[in-house]
Amino acid sequence: MGKQKNKIVIATNNIGKLKEIKEILKDYEFFTLKDLNCNVEINEDGKTFEENSLKKAKEISKILQMPCIADDSGLCIEQLKGFPGVNTARFLGENATQEDRNNDLIKRLKGKTNRKALFITVITYFDERMGNIITSRGTLEGYISKEKRGTNGFGFDEIFELKDGRTLAELTDEEKNKISSRKIALENLKMNLEKML
Ligand code: IMP
Repeated sequence: MGKQKNKIVIATNNIGKLKEIKEILKDYEFFTLKDLNCNVEINEDGKTFEENSLKKAKEISKILQMPCIADDSGLCIEQLKGFPGVNTARFLGENATQEDRNNDLIKRLKGKTNRKALFITVITYFDERMGNIITSRGTLEGYISKEKRGTNGFGFDEIFELKDGRTLAELTDEEKNKISSRKIALENLKMNLEKML
């Protein structure tokens, strides 16, 4: 009989994220909130990505009494003093679409030469039963493109340009998953989980 894998709940129902997490953390058995019939809504009102991801991981681990991994991501644009930052998912309100947000950021940077942007992902592992916390941050440097390009990916991928001129939406999944901020944060988390467990 094979060794039993440690069980972890992921604070998401996003299939793309789940796939990425499973590919990197192969030695764990993952459950989404949906798998566990947990439909809790957590108010992401923290001032930092760390606060938000810890809040999500803590609340869910407490409810389900099992370890939880939660992430929080966002875009920080130098010309806009770090905007939209922790409000990346909501800076145009709850009813705006991703297309609205992408168009809005292109408009805000119209005519600007400094288009530098940082995509940040913070992932937190929290186990309520043991009190263990691991926080891990990954970043990806790039630029806000002048127009939307590419059809792959999701979110801000079509406006996030790399040094080679391609947007993230012009990369294959494989190419994106080698450099993404989530990948870097996950690799870091993996290393720390191995040390701890
Ligand atoms: P969340 O923290 O995962 O909810 O993400 C915050 C915002 O960043 C949402 O608008 C997501 O669509 C967007 N986002 C998250 N991950 C990515 C990514 O890998 N590429 C582009 N946008 C992303």
